[in-house]
Amino acid sequence: MVDTIRSFEHIAQEHLSKLYDLSESREITRQLLEEVLDCSRTHLLLLDKDTLLSPLEAGRLERMLHELSEGSPLQYTLGYALFAGQRIQVAPGVLIPRPETEELIELILQHPESQASQHLLDVGTGSGCIAHALTALLPEVSESFAIEVSSEAIPIAQRNFDALREETGRLVTLWKKDLFALVEEHTPPSTPFDLIVSNPPYIHPDEAMEMTPQVLLHEPHLALFAPEASPIAYYLALGALIQQGYLSSGGSLWVELNPLYAHETEEALHKNLGREHCSTQLIGDLSGKERFLHLVYHA
Ligand code: GLN
Repeated sequence: MVDTIRSFEHIAQEHLSKLYDLSESREITRQLLEEVLDCSRTHLLLLDKDTLLSPLEAGRLERMLHELSEGSPLQYTLGYALFAGQRIQVAPGVLIPRPETEELIELILQHPESQASQHLLDVGTGSGCIAHALTALLPEVSESFAIEVSSEAIPIAQRNFDALREETGRLVTLWKKDLFALVEEHTPPSTPFDLIVSNPPYIHPDEAMEMTPQVLLHEPHLALFAPEASPIAYYLALGALIQQGYLSSGGSLWVELNPLYAHETEEALHKNLGREHCSTQLIGDLSGKERFLHLVYHA
C-alpha cells in the first residue's frame, strides 16, 4: 500500500525496474514525487521518508505509475516536458519535444540575423514548443503565428501560448490549418514573415521498425511520419509558400529534417525557388547527422 514516500519509492522501483535502469527509475520516481507533492528537488530530498501521503496524492502517484508501467512516456504522464529552458505542456496528441529540436532553437538564436526577426511563422507547431521558445527568446519578435492541422494538438498548443502570454505578455496566434491547403489558397500575408520555422513529420514509414515501441505506440503518427510516396512533401510545400511571398527577401527558413533526405530536400528547394533566389546550408546535429537546413531567400 502506498501511504508514505518510502512505500511509494519501493513500489515505484518494483514497477519501473522492468522498463528502466536503476538510475533512470530513481530519477523518474523523484520527478513523480516532485510533481504530486508540488515541491522542488531540494525540498523533496529534505523530506522525511516516512512523510505521510494524502489519499489524493497516493492515488495520483499510483495512477501515474500505472500509466508508466503500460509504456507511456514520462512526459505524457507528468503532463509537461522541459524545452529550451521552458516548461511545455504535452499530452498524447502532440510529439514530445526532442533534444534535436532544442538544437534547432539554439542554432536560430545564435544566428545574428534572427536577433532582428519580427514576424515569425511556425508551421506544424504541435505542442507549440518552437513558436513558444522563439517568441519568448527572440528580442524583436512582434508578430508570431503558428499553424497546426491536428484537432488534438490545437488545445495543447493554445494552452502553451496562453501560458507564454501570461508569463511574458508575448502573443502567438494559432491557426488551425493544413499546410497543403494553405499552399492551394495562394493567400500570402500583406507583410511577409522574416522567419519561418518548421519541424514537420519526416520519418519514412519504412523506418518504423527501428523505432521504439514507446514512440510508436504512444506518440501521434501524424506528427512523425512523412507521406510514403514523397517523404519531402512538407518541405516542397514550405518552398511553395516562399514562392508565393510568405518569406521576405533576406528572410530565413529553418527546418529540421531527416538526414536520409537532407541533400534531396536542399536540391529540390534550389530547383523550385531558383538557385539565384536562395542560399542554403545543411547543419549537423550533435550526433553529426545532417538534421537542419537553413535557407536564406533572395526574392
Ligand atoms: N525527430 C523525431 C523522432 O526522431 C521526429 C520528428 C519529426 O518527424 N519531425 O522521433
